[in-house]
Amino acid sequence: MAEKEIWFVTGSQHLYGPETLNQVAENSQEVVKGLNASKHIPIKIVYKPTVKTPQEITDVCLEASSNKNCIGIITWMHTFSPAKMWIKGLSVLNKPLCHLHTQFNAQVPWESIDMDFMNLNQSAHGDREFGHMMTRMRKNRKIVVGHWQTDRVQQKLGNWTRVALGWDEFQNLKVARLGDNMREVAVTDGDKVEAQFRFGFSVNGYDSSDVVAHMEKSSQEDIDALVQVYEDSYELSDKLKVGGEQRQSLVDAAKIELGLRSFLEEGNFTAFTDTFENLGELKQLPGIATQRLMADGYGFGAEGDWKTSALLRALKVMASGMEGGTSFMEDYTYHFTPEKSYVMGSHMLEICPTISEGKPSCEVHPLGIGGKEDPVRLVFNAPAGPAINVSLVDLGNRFRLIVNEVEAVKPMGELPNLPVARVLWDAKPNLEVAATGWILAGGAHHTVYTQALTTEFMEDFAEMAGIELVVIDKDTSIRNLKDQLNANETYFHLFKNNL
Ligand code: MN
Repeated sequence: MAEKEIWFVTGSQHLYGPETLNQVAENSQEVVKGLNASKHIPIKIVYKPTVKTPQEITDVCLEASSNKNCIGIITWMHTFSPAKMWIKGLSVLNKPLCHLHTQFNAQVPWESIDMDFMNLNQSAHGDREFGHMMTRMRKNRKIVVGHWQTDRVQQKLGNWTRVALGWDEFQNLKVARLGDNMREVAVTDGDKVEAQFRFGFSVNGYDSSDVVAHMEKSSQEDIDALVQVYEDSYELSDKLKVGGEQRQSLVDAAKIELGLRSFLEEGNFTAFTDTFENLGELKQLPGIATQRLMADGYGFGAEGDWKTSALLRALKVMASGMEGGTSFMEDYTYHFTPEKSYVMGSHMLEICPTISEGKPSCEVHPLGIGGKEDPVRLVFNAPAGPAINVSLVDLGNRFRLIVNEVEAVKPMGELPNLPVARVLWDAKPNLEVAATGWILAGGAHHTVYTQALTTEFMEDFAEMAGIELVVIDKDTSIRNLKDQLNANETYFHLFKNNL
């Protein structure tokens, strides 16, 4: 992340003479300085000299497109920059674009304003000319409106920058798939070739024996040291403590974590999947190993779910350093009451401890499916508060991103017999509409659950990827949603190759 940068490109033309252009350059550098000082923007904004001709515009767009560290550009028309000059540059630009519609000075200087001032500060129409061309060319972009020194504008730019980081990760990501898909399951599967074309990430298959080969390389010291980390970090159940009847399961779990971690590091994978049906020589379904790898930033999807795995990795990159955790999740069971209904989210094992409230307990229990030994897992509750659930599905002719805004609540009971991490949430606008909408939209049972990111991030992400976004929030009505889904069916069919 330290090497990544956003380029700041100011558009103008030669019409105004060198004095005005010098002032434009000075002001732009001042804006860049201000943005770099903002706590909301996680990476460096790099000032680029003002572009004044079609050639200069094309050159900076080509450079941005080929520069590995540049993950996006912010454009601003301080003065007027006739937009036909931008056609070629925008045609070749392949990085995300954020159009900052701002003005150097916040307020009109009522006493001193004259025509020179007006000509220097004309983004109010300069940015509209530029915006028209982007619309005419059907270019996806983010538009941020407001004074550049305000918290709101800097936060919007910062959020977009985070999404650009996630998109950059998506484009270069390698997903390792250990085993195939859970047999006969539809939504976790999909078109991996189309995904690579659309999103950049690759998904390739490996076998549990590849992990076992790495497990065999780990020394007794490595295993002992990791078991010690478990002892120090979690509340171990009695069975797992020294002398406990299932202590060996903890040692086996540590071996699996070491092997899996080594396998992922060697292959430069930052996301993976597994499935309980293809475990081979692995004694347990990876539980604590997967949970700890997710906590370290790896993407994960259970039962071969490579889309959720890649999505989790991208969202973890976006949320890096932010408050709140991000985890693999599944809609598991319901709590219906006459007043209100809730979803309990969980999985067989693999919920990320970044969403844990307090110190997780480390436990071992039978799995009930898969026919392997009892897996070790971290068990915890998640804190109350707002979050979103995000699902990426393959509809056959396109990908759709679905978001449901939720409010996590404290469980109404202690859940002493539930051996998995869990979250209870109130889905917006209510369970009836949320679940109806989700099912109509074809949303998966697997999701990415994040307390750190909001719908706005997902909106920017869908724009960058050129895919459909369906949001279920407090304003959702089923009749409107049906119309939206029908309209999108036509839209994405017509523009499939342009987006
Ligand atoms: Mn599942």
